[in-house]
Amino acid sequence: MLLLRARAGLARSSFAVINTAALARCTGADLQAKFIFRNTDPLTRRLQRLPLPQGEGWGEGASKSFRQSRDVDLEFKARELLRQLGAGKLARQVRVEWNPRMKSAAGRADYRERLISLNPLLRDHGIEEIDRTLRHELAHLLAQFRVGRRRIAPHGPEWREACRDLDIADEARCHNLPFATKAYPARFVYRCPNCRQEFPRVRRIRRVVACLACCRKHNGGDFDPRFRLRLSAHC
Ligand SMILES: [Zn+2]
Ligand SMILES: [Zn+2]
Repeated sequence: MLLLRARAGLARSSFAVINTAALARCTGADLQAKFIFRNTDPLTRRLQRLPLPQGEGWGEGASKSFRQSRDVDLEFKARELLRQLGAGKLARQVRVEWNPRMKSAAGRADYRERLISLNPLLRDHGIEEIDRTLRHELAHLLAQFRVGRRRIAPHGPEWREACRDLDIADEARCHNLPFATKAYPARFVYRCPNCRQEFPRVRRIRRVVACLACCRKHNGGDFDPRFRLRLSAHC
């Protein structure tokens, strides 16, 4: 399963997955406003189908530099967290790596490999963001570990419970944050009717979206039509 997330500046965002909502943010603007989709968007569905990393970057062939991308400090932290939660076996197995081949994904959890991959671009978003992403991905591993072979939804109740245990109870279950690689001028400006936050966008938003901050604050991170964004300007 693919999970991505990132946060920057004052606002937080993330990227990921599955059944319900997905957030995205506008690229290009300093304003890191986030919104949340009503339904799964095609991109996240597509991401889900991508092959698992298979220990990508782990001591194979030409990936010498990747071998150095293992992060022992984060790994130590991940192990401590898991150990405290009684998942000693998983704690011994988990690995955390920085994967420079990741593009828009901020993080990824591969249960089979017991591997958490983080996008090096996260480093630009501060320690808090890295920690949050680590915990989000850890929650995926922990949730699967707890249920054994049973199949669970990536952001289902088991994951939520794991998030609570990992002190990220407010984590939105779906998030979608493309890292900005290029700045485009925003032509459309959307606004949250509740907090008045503006969401400049390069393109018109075709889907129903709501303000992530307000959905988090008032609806546990799930899509809430009360906070649907309205087009307030375009240029
Ligand atoms: Zn996730
Ligand atoms: Zn709002």
